[in-house]
Amino acid sequence: MTFLAPGNSHEHSILQNIDKTGRQINYLRISVTDRCNLACMYCVPKENIPRLSHKKIARYEELVKIVNLAADIGITKVRITGGEPLVRKGIFTFIKKLHDIKNIRDVTVTTNGVLLKKQKINLRNSGIKRLNISLDTLDPEKFEFITGKNYFEQVWQGIMTAYDMGISPIKLNCVVMKHINGNEITDLAALSLKYPFHVRFIEYMPMGSSIVDETQQMFIPEIREILDNKFGPLVPVQKSVFDGPATRFRIRNAPGEIGFISPISSHFCSECNRIRLTSTGRLRPCLLRNTETDILGPLRQGALDSELKEIIKTVIKNKPAAHGIENKN
Ligand code: SAM
Repeated sequence: MTFLAPGNSHEHSILQNIDKTGRQINYLRISVTDRCNLACMYCVPKENIPRLSHKKIARYEELVKIVNLAADIGITKVRITGGEPLVRKGIFTFIKKLHDIKNIRDVTVTTNGVLLKKQKINLRNSGIKRLNISLDTLDPEKFEFITGKNYFEQVWQGIMTAYDMGISPIKLNCVVMKHINGNEITDLAALSLKYPFHVRFIEYMPMGSSIVDETQQMFIPEIREILDNKFGPLVPVQKSVFDGPATRFRIRNAPGEIGFISPISSHFCSECNRIRLTSTGRLRPCLLRNTETDILGPLRQGALDSELKEIIKTVIKNKPAAHGIENKN
């Protein structure tokens, strides 16, 4: 029996991008660099991690090759992330090339926004239609406390640059930490009343060894209650095919939206459609696990396209059923 998932007209993808639990994997998240111009407290590990040498980082042409192969298997959506993707030279030319790959229907970027204004022209020419921008606070001092840099104004101007350019939707990602920015939930949500932004609240995931501990976790039900109490019951918004794991709502009559991402309190592993490619060219079947398979090494050693595709297919097939991060609260 052949199986073609609804909405996927890409014949080559039949069975090739289905994992062993039956999930269809069509989304590749690529980290293009380990470097970042911020040091967010929930992201950066306590101990110093040495920077990767340039030689180890996948070159753009290597990444384009891997995306081409992945697209043949059934990947249709690519997200560029980091580190901070905009610190890598030539990033927008690379993104433009990804748009040209057959079967890639959506290319998006997750950025901290610091360089968006400076890169305005490249941004406009890149073909990017949607952006995710991290914004954890509206308070410049707190921004510096969270990120280690006094760049709030630059980020806000970056958001406005993208907005004025007509990029839509602009999704603002906020990692909620109880005693740090937990008191700003309603202020951040209120941005969706003024602008058509999607303000998304993300549960803090205790990964690696960041200085933020589990006592700072705030779960989506609590966040939602705060918003319902302030703005009245949130109105559900229909999911679309390109939605990630966020559940979508709107404050009544708001031009923008509210999104909730609950990797801990109500994890969405059964719906997960993603794999990750690290900046050193290793494929991870789960974004939140360290298990990885090298694809860049074989590519550099001259592996055949069919062999490289086999690597991608095996990674997809063996995707774990769940991320394994426990809710200890
Ligand atoms: N530098 C870019 C940025 O700041 O958006 C892209 C990389 S950043 C690692 C990608 C996303 O991961 C951001 O939206 C950030 O908020 C989120 N993130 C990082 N560490 C996290 C954690 N421990 N828990 C939840 N979200 C986290």
